[in-house]
Amino acid sequence: MTNRKALIAGNWKMYKTGPQAAELATRLKSLVSDVTDVDIMVAPAFTALGVVAEILKGSVIHLGGQDLFWEVEGAYTGEISAPMLKAAGCTYVIIGHSERRQYFGETNATVNKKIRAALLEGLIPVMCIGESEAERESNQTFSVVQKQLEEGLQGLTSDEAQKLTLAYEPVWAIGTGKTATTDQAQEVHEFIRKRVETAFGNSVANTIRILYGGSVKPENISDLMAMADIDGALVGGASLDADSFAAIVRF
Ligand code: PEP
Repeated sequence: MTNRKALIAGNWKMYKTGPQAAELATRLKSLVSDVTDVDIMVAPAFTALGVVAEILKGSVIHLGGQDLFWEVEGAYTGEISAPMLKAAGCTYVIIGHSERRQYFGETNATVNKKIRAALLEGLIPVMCIGESEAERESNQTFSVVQKQLEEGLQGLTSDEAQKLTLAYEPVWAIGTGKTATTDQAQEVHEFIRKRVETAFGNSVANTIRILYGGSVKPENISDLMAMADIDGALVGGASLDADSFAAIVRF
């Protein structure tokens, strides 16, 4: 990390009913109330956004959606739009999580549409990229990440790109307990920052936050955060426990 303010984001995935999410948010709020040097975000399930937004009002914790659909409104049963997330109190939205890509047909093209929809509404997209285990083993990590970046960010101006947060999440490290080594992560983060510089210029590359995600825990966060191009973490499993997540926030 350099002078970029760290962001620690919790992805609660399809865990926690409204009452359970309320309990987690209440505990977390009291555990991190004094934190000002790190940005904090949690992304509960859609059904818990309302109750969590109420609890987090006036706290240091920002609210995020886990996904959105790119249209503003319409006959799209089951979908949630950017204005709906904004009205629910979100400032961030996770886009292109590998679980969305793997199970729900998300592609770089749909990621691109969703990023544009989020930006139009003033939401900060947290765009997820990362290679699978097979891709890493066949030395395709950099080409996969480059394609995800190029296609996902296609047509964006530098001003738009400036507003993004990126998350490098090697798919083989998500929910598996396997964390990329700090050197493996740093190498890809540095590559991503260079690609951002080529596409959008030096100033965007220097200010954009690139989070690491994949089995981040209180035990490994400080080593990851010591790397030059790692600016925070997107945390799944360990964000479901208030004490673990608070310990990660206090890396
Ligand atoms: C994630 O959901 O983005 C993630 C990184 O999960 P976990 O921390 O459980 O590996």
